[in-house]
Amino acid sequence: MTDEYVWLITGANRGIGLETVKQLLQSPSNTVLAACRNPAKATELQALSEKAGGKLHLVALDITDKESVNKAAKEVASLLGGKGIDYLVNNAAILPGGLGDTAFGMDVDDLAATFVTNVAGTAYVTQAFIGLVERSTKKTVVNISSTVGSIGFDFGATGASYAVSKAALNMLTYKQAKEKPQVTTISLCPGWLQTGEYKPSPQSQMGGPNAIYPVSVGVEGVLKVILSLKPEDSGQFFNFRGERVPW
Ligand code: NDP
Repeated sequence: MTDEYVWLITGANRGIGLETVKQLLQSPSNTVLAACRNPAKATELQALSEKAGGKLHLVALDITDKESVNKAAKEVASLLGGKGIDYLVNNAAILPGGLGDTAFGMDVDDLAATFVTNVAGTAYVTQAFIGLVERSTKKTVVNISSTVGSIGFDFGATGASYAVSKAALNMLTYKQAKEKPQVTTISLCPGWLQTGEYKPSPQSQMGGPNAIYPVSVGVEGVLKVILSLKPEDSGQFFNFRGERVPW
């Protein structure tokens, strides 16, 4: 009998999150909990769920709303009936300032907003779900980050508010990994992918049509990296090719 694994993906209704759900459902060994702000409007997830034979569950989850996160954690615990979450993928994030903003030019309200979602929201989701992760076989937390937030990668002056939030997310990864060595926790950059097509303004597109790779390519890499993780990889920052990214 093949091993069966439970995945929880945040921001699963579009972009990288949605593609991750689609690729995971190609293997019968995966049960996927697709978390998104508004499952009633997540038509693609609903359509997938109808065909998934009980392997896909939609969960309402706004990562910036503690009540919503707590409610989702309770719902998932009862759905899993004693089982854990093998892979928690913290994918949901925002880019309100666009990739063009700079340290001196950015609206600090955008900076604050990225922190609320990309850092505090992600931290709270992991606090709320860590008990379920610890109950699982794989005990893995993946914080979807970006090389834009790497000082060593030297991205330059632009993308400031988002970059600062992702650098903070990377420190969160490090702290989480140090505090709980029994859990494998990493930061992972999916590559610059052609997502964000539903955003109202090109400025706020996460990937956008000019990005380098189709979303399927980045997600294939992301899943390959996650599935090959070893406990000693915990606390590190990888890209979708499995290479270490400098902090
Ligand atoms: P998209 O903008 O296409 O999708 C973002 C997702 O996050 C949406 O599902 C959105 O939900 C969700 N989300 C935002 N805020 C919240 C919230 N408060 N609660 C729950 N869900 C929320 O982004 P991508 O798919 O491109 O990016 C996914 C991840 O990959 C992000 O962490 C991003 O930083 C990272 N990344 C992306 C790159 C790229 O080139 N695309 C490059 C490097 C990193 P809703 O539909 O409700 O708004």
